[in-house]
Amino acid sequence: MHCEEIPVFLRKTIAVLATTAALSTGLVGTAQAATVLTYNSTGAGQFQAAVDKGAEVWNSSVTNVKLRKTTGRANITVTWDTGWPRARVTSLGRGSWIMGTQAVNEGHDTVRISSHEFGHLLGLPDRRTGLCTDLMSGASAGTSCKNPNPSAKEKAEVEGNFRTAATVQATTFVDAA
Ligand SMILES: [Zn+2]
Repeated sequence: MHCEEIPVFLRKTIAVLATTAALSTGLVGTAQAATVLTYNSTGAGQFQAAVDKGAEVWNSSVTNVKLRKTTGRANITVTWDTGWPRARVTSLGRGSWIMGTQAVNEGHDTVRISSHEFGHLLGLPDRRTGLCTDLMSGASAGTSCKNPNPSAKEKAEVEGNFRTAATVQATTFVDAA
């Protein structure tokens, strides 16, 4: 088959049309804006610093969602009590979690508890693998485990949850040892 060379003016037109189409579908040059979730930890008492550190862990681990502290109305409410840590997820990024002193008194790390519970709000379930490198292994990794960071797989899962606005069933996770 014989192909004529495309004239310059047509090539330019084609290039402009391609760029316009790509821009209109958001495929070029626009990184996805992060979902911002607010959390209010004024009810977390002496654990507020640990709560903030858990939020910072996620903020430095993923790009599609960011946790922002507020003292007003929030997507996520954090409190403390004397039971086991637990999270009540109503939908992706919405709900509450509780810092439970039963786990703290046993020696579990408060920052790991915080990032674990935020993990539930970000759509991650419990996976009791016993591995300290997994954040969602929770108490199964033992009290010697101080790792507050999600694994690469856990990070990727959260990125995916917020890239696709995943549907998360309402669930309460109780993190008893
Ligand atoms: Zn859990």
